[in-house]
Amino acid sequence: MKAAVLIEPKRIEIQDVPDPTMTETRVLVRIRNCGICTLEQRLYSGDLKIVYPIIPGHEASGEIVEIGPRVIGDFKPGMHVALDLITRCGQCYFCRTGRSNLCSNRFKPGQQVLGGFGEYIAVRGRQVHPVPANMTLREAAFVEPVACCIRSLKKLQLELGENVLIVGAGPMGILHLQVARAMGARVFISDPNKKRLEVAKTLGAFAGIDPSIDDPEEIIRAETGGIGVDACVVTSPAQAALRSGIASLAKAGRLNIYTSYMEEMPLPMDANVMHRNESLITGSEGRTEFDFHQAVKLIGYGMVDVKPLVSKVVGYENIGEGIEAAMCQDTLRVLLEQ
Ligand SMILES: [Zn+2]
Ligand SMILES: [Zn+2]
Repeated sequence: MKAAVLIEPKRIEIQDVPDPTMTETRVLVRIRNCGICTLEQRLYSGDLKIVYPIIPGHEASGEIVEIGPRVIGDFKPGMHVALDLITRCGQCYFCRTGRSNLCSNRFKPGQQVLGGFGEYIAVRGRQVHPVPANMTLREAAFVEPVACCIRSLKKLQLELGENVLIVGAGPMGILHLQVARAMGARVFISDPNKKRLEVAKTLGAFAGIDPSIDDPEEIIRAETGGIGVDACVVTSPAQAALRSGIASLAKAGRLNIYTSYMEEMPLPMDANVMHRNESLITGSEGRTEFDFHQAVKLIGYGMVDVKPLVSKVVGYENIGEGIEAAMCQDTLRVLLEQ
């Protein structure tokens, strides 16, 4: 089969690689779409290393081609599916306690990692999530990132009508915005990019704040009777983003650090303030199968609209251009389509 293989940083090639190995317990999927996410961008730039060469891609959708005879589940050839490409063991302490996003064996040598930039993939039935007929395969490529937002917002235990600040209106910020709205929150979102704020406003943000012009904390205090936001998600790795999220929190506010950092990032917070205000700071990593299942529903039911996030669609022939475009501030998501 064909695949886009990352040979080394900045060098991606379309190669003929061996077909995936089918077994009796695997489902073979023809991949149609795959998002070019931050992970792929960092692998490409060399900021993040797993192994080289690697077939990147973890936000994939496609059609079922073949079903191993011992696969349990209601799968049929031709079915449209979203793929959960993080293999979990199902047996470690975290998997057994409902937190497979923290599985100890996710990246053990020998585990299949990523692979969404290939033509085909053979995965276990539990990694294959059928999507409803009204969902396109482009939309299905957003199930994985939406699932991550669901995980992130569940950590914050939102109540109806709470005020939430999303720091950063990139693709993950915009998806967080929509999931938070589905959970009954009123959402403030901040980003120095005007285009992104406009998209956020059309998708239901109560206020879009440009921190290079206005002070988010001031606007939030004014709109919340001086109280601040009940919850905040930081989706931008800038230190100022974390600082502004913390500064905007109400007493008993909860904050989730969704973004990852390339370098150590000390928490810019006075422990005494944390103590007095009962602040809760947490992080979130990936998603569980349950989050994934709910993401299929949210997109399928039209409660999260991912269509405005597609900034560009590329094929194998211009995948390098696609990755470069994905790294630009004016694009939201770039999809590989084959
Ligand atoms: Zn992703
Ligand atoms: Zn595990």
